[in-house]
Amino acid sequence: MGSLEDRPFLLTSVDRMLRWAQKNSIWPAQFGLACCAIEMMSTAAARFDLARFGAEVMRASPRQADLMIVAGRVAQKMAPVLRQIYDQMPDPKWVISMGACASCGGVFNNYAILQGVDRVVPVDVYVPGCPPTPEQLLDGIIKLQQKITAGGIPANRGHALAQTAGRP
Ligand code: SF4
Repeated sequence: MGSLEDRPFLLTSVDRMLRWAQKNSIWPAQFGLACCAIEMMSTAAARFDLARFGAEVMRASPRQADLMIVAGRVAQKMAPVLRQIYDQMPDPKWVISMGACASCGGVFNNYAILQGVDRVVPVDVYVPGCPPTPEQLLDGIIKLQQKITAGGIPANRGHALAQTAGRP
């Protein structure tokens, strides 16, 4: 057995190691709501290969997910359901608002559609477009990874919005 100098090793902090692991193993919850979801599914397929970024494991249970990609318009009736699913996700967790409808209602400026999902859940990254391309969603995920690496997203920040749950 050689000396310590002969063996390769890395120096880091536990915090930085955890953030590195989190950013490379994001598990999105399945939350396709409208046409944007088609592009989200395409992002996970072979051509765009979301697995390259460690985020291809779409979970059907919020208990096993730490990223909600809101892909499509959110009906007023769906808003409290969306908030409940968000609350069921364990911390730390993140939200990507995919497309114009999820971010601001898009072309649906009417009483039936929530005019921005950030009225019920905190959004970390907004991806523009109608619909955004898979490349744009990948760019949004990379931006989220950068935020996770920077450590600028506090845990439990969703509680601040809890009282607005279900409100249009
Ligand atoms: S942003 Fe466009 S593609 Fe996405 S849900 Fe709205 S209408 Fe459909």
